Amino acid sequence: MAECLFCRIVAKEIPSKVVYEDKQVLAFHDINPAAPVHVLIVPKQHRTSLLDVTPDDQAVLGHLQLVAGQLARELGLEERGFRLVSNCGEEGGQTIGHLHFHLLGGRTLQWPPG
Ligand code: 5GP
Ligand code: ZN
Repeated sequence: MAECLFCRIVAKEIPSKVVYEDKQVLAFHDINPAAPVHVLIVPKQHRTSLLDVTPDDQAVLGHLQLVAGQLARELGLEERGFRLVSNCGEEGGQTIGHLHFHLLGGRTLQWPPG
């Protein structure tokens, strides 16, 4: 059994509300949404963060962003806008050690973040 929470979600050992899935990527609703739309987009292969990738991961990293844009469209954020963010490490606010992108939208998001 995988130890990482998101690896367990990818393996369907833990249920999630999946919004998109293909060979490389899973996208699911955040359990504690910070905005009306809050989807997490993760590579199926475990990487801890953006500091744990190599040039071999270039294709999947690009793919994650293409999926994010497509999901933003499908979730009705095209006109209003949205934010894609990956928290990295302690000061970045990362709490789950499996690389993920937050797709946030459906309200006006503040900048700079707190
Ligand atoms: P981070 O803080 O690492 O950038 O983001 C982790 C995100 O995962 C948080 O927004 C948190 O709400 C979400 N999360 C934590 N546990 C679960 C879970 O079991 N299921 C889902 N769907 N999201 C989770
Ligand atoms: Zn993992």
